[in-house]
Amino acid sequence: MTELLFRDDGYLRSTTARIVGVDERGIRLDRTVFYPTGGGQPGDCGVLRLSGGAAVPIVDTIKGDGLDEVVHVPAPGAALPPVGAEVTAEIDWERRHRLMRMHTCLHLLCAVVPGAVTGGSVGDGRGRLDFDVPGASLDKDAITAGLNVLIAEGHSVAPRWIDDAELEAHPELVRTMSVKPPTGAGKVRLLEIDGVDLQPCGGTHVKNTAEIGLVEITKIENKGRQNRRINVTFAGG
Ligand SMILES: [Zn+2]
Repeated sequence: MTELLFRDDGYLRSTTARIVGVDERGIRLDRTVFYPTGGGQPGDCGVLRLSGGAAVPIVDTIKGDGLDEVVHVPAPGAALPPVGAEVTAEIDWERRHRLMRMHTCLHLLCAVVPGAVTGGSVGDGRGRLDFDVPGASLDKDAITAGLNVLIAEGHSVAPRWIDDAELEAHPELVRTMSVKPPTGAGKVRLLEIDGVDLQPCGGTHVKNTAEIGLVEITKIENKGRQNRRINVTFAGG
């Protein structure tokens, strides 16, 4: 089990940690700032720095078998550090921050577009959500404008926790049908965008919608009778 520092503070760029496991899949630490692939958000890249000056490039981060287990995937051929070694674990912050901005933007998209979300993906500089909506009712320019209003309004964004029973009593909190929130651990992490959106999410987000910057809907694809894929990018690169 890894202590997941990004859960409470998505802005942590590095931490000291101890290596507790190394195998063919990757490196496990006692705590980490690296987000593992999940909930539509890709895993972090970065580096593990050893006290002797050696550095292990990390090209991906994935979940392990156990609850809260995080596996740091080293670059192919990298010399692996020994179990017990102290390291400084440092994420590629520029990339992570873009992912946080886009991830938060997709929550806003849920609020702008009426209809159930059936899937989605956060990419570096772009993202998409699939909505269960019929016909050609969605307007690209109107959605772009709606998103940019919510961004400019500067809503605060913060996680909060509720217990499983409370979530069961409020099924409307679950907007994403394809990603069921992890229940059974006693409590569920919700992401609240003040006055805009509240839903279970384990990902990393910016603290305020203004930090997202201007965005643009690039295209709306027809992916079946009731499935519309909405693609979004940062405006101006
Ligand atoms: Zn989220």
